Amino acid sequence: MYQIGIDIGGTNIKLGLLDEALELVAHSSVPFPHTTAEDMAGTVGAGVRALLQAHGAALEAVESVGAVVPGSIDASGETVIDAHNLDFHDVPLRRLLAAQFPGIPVRIANDANGAALAELYRGAFVGCRTAVLLTLGTGLGGGIILGGRMFNGGMNHGVELGHAYLVDGGEPCTCGNRGCMESYCSATALAREGRAAMRRAPESLLWQKAGGSEAHVDARLVTDCAKAGDPAARAAFNVYVEHLSSACASVFNILDPEVLAIGGGLCGAGEFLFEPLRALVSRKCFYDTHGKIVPALLGNDAGMIGAALLGRDAEG
Ligand SMILES: [Zn+2]
Repeated sequence: MYQIGIDIGGTNIKLGLLDEALELVAHSSVPFPHTTAEDMAGTVGAGVRALLQAHGAALEAVESVGAVVPGSIDASGETVIDAHNLDFHDVPLRRLLAAQFPGIPVRIANDANGAALAELYRGAFVGCRTAVLLTLGTGLGGGIILGGRMFNGGMNHGVELGHAYLVDGGEPCTCGNRGCMESYCSATALAREGRAAMRRAPESLLWQKAGGSEAHVDARLVTDCAKAGDPAARAAFNVYVEHLSSACASVFNILDPEVLAIGGGLCGAGEFLFEPLRALVSRKCFYDTHGKIVPALLGNDAGMIGAALLGRDAEG
């Protein structure tokens, strides 16, 4: 039997086939159609049938279908309330997908939650009962594993780690509030610190590499220049790590997870990020015996693998 995982993004939809050993045995990608949600469900249905056919498997061999989206899901697990990148608002996604797979259970979830589930079965959280994933990208996604299962909030609204307050009256956030973890700990936030540092230091390496253009400053450039020893980039990076460590320390103080994993492109910074982060978190945590901070292991496939595991999680 197979489990199908679907990661719906604003550019591509990733489709994956997991076997009973939870190995990803086949996968493909189709462009996200920017038309209607019904069209999108049709595209997914056709894509999955093609994937199964190429693998020599029948739809009858599919045990469950899971899909994740970068957005919020209603408490009943039926509807995408808001997924801005997909332009999905109150879309009955579960029902639309179920129509493509008659007789097969279909589940939907937020992509960061799915990624945490993938880490639990296949990645950094294997063997854990309590773990937290923070994915640092354009925004900040978070997923919590509690008692060995995906935790979707006490009232099933979902967890919004990215919108936990970090700085009172701070930088504006995409959610309309100010000072959220997302507005200080996302890759976008590091790029913002980098632009500010560049303005203060017009002859810096950061300034030279960006050709003096703020539009060319992203998290990766700031990190690379900081690694190269540029004082301006290093100052920006240090401010960023200080905020990220405060966020991580709060996570440890609230949930006492065995492992906190950091995902997203910034992980590529490796120990340049993790070493100072661990030192600052240890200073800020209530218990100095807190859990580990590690890079997430599954990268870009995490959402797709987690989506396929939604059926497994529901059985748990
Ligand atoms: Zn926010």
